[in-house]
Amino acid sequence: MYDLIIIGAGPAGLSASIYAKRAMLNTLLIEKNYMGGGQIVNTYEVDNYPGLPSINGFDLGLKMSEHADKFEIEKVCTDVISLDATGDVKKFTVDGEERLTGMGVSYCATCDGAFFKNKITAVVGGGDVAFEDALFLSRGCEKVYLIHRREGFRAQAVLREELFRADNIEVITDNVVEEINGHDKVESITIKNVKTGESKTLDVNGVFIAVGNTPNAECIPDEIETDERGYVIADETCATNVKGVFAAGDIRRKKLRQVVTAVADGANAVYSAEEYLRGQ
Ligand code: NAP
Repeated sequence: MYDLIIIGAGPAGLSASIYAKRAMLNTLLIEKNYMGGGQIVNTYEVDNYPGLPSINGFDLGLKMSEHADKFEIEKVCTDVISLDATGDVKKFTVDGEERLTGMGVSYCATCDGAFFKNKITAVVGGGDVAFEDALFLSRGCEKVYLIHRREGFRAQAVLREELFRADNIEVITDNVVEEINGHDKVESITIKNVKTGESKTLDVNGVFIAVGNTPNAECIPDEIETDERGYVIADETCATNVKGVFAAGDIRRKKLRQVVTAVADGANAVYSAEEYLRGQ
């Protein structure tokens, strides 16, 4: 039994942990990976976190985890299977999780990019992650294709500018990947132009999928209100429609999903949780 249980040790969860310990709440942090930091550990470079220009995402995640560790937060490394949020006391079910890895298909360029030194790779997507992945891979790969389903990109201007300057990245727009071909490893991809219907095959050794994330919301029970994409509806106080449950970080419906907005959510969520507990 805890005053506060924080699910996830990404920037929001780690920020919440620090605030919770400072508020002297009896807190448990549940994270399924051994290392905290969340999705930033997969980011090659973070250059928009104030005070830490051009820090490697892994290092930033590590620094945040070490900072939270200093507060001796109680941690459990496991997955949350379900949450019963109905009563005043919320109940969690936890378990472990096995990870699957592919032979040449990856979802993390900074984790697997080194296996493709001097090889040809393709990155699928047109957002910040796809651009960062393509730029990261271009530093070691012979050639990188960036394949995007339409002409416009979501990626920030600064990334677009850098990517278009790289001479070993070929951008292919208006195309989707129809098939990833190969026996026990990736050998090529078949792409199809969505405007002309024309298909062609590109020889590649690896494919990096960067088409965005669905919120990791399997454990969120029906009583907690979410939008049509599965993001939890909560304003900047992070309070959900269920009393005593707060949503912070990428899981919360909001416009800007960045490390700075996640850590701010962590602080706001704990402030609101403290207020809630005082009223109990
Ligand atoms: P994202 O911004 O949602 O971009 C996903 C991309 O994949 C879009 O270009 C989308 O195309 C494409 N896509 C989606 N589904 C697809 C499908 N089925 N087939 C082909 N293409 C598909 O996701 P993200 O790049 O993972 O970024 C997630 C969030 O983290 C964003 O808010 C981003 O700004 C943030 N982030 C920030 C930084 C930073 O500040 N340094 C770094 C990384 C990520 P459409 O555009 O056509 O929908």
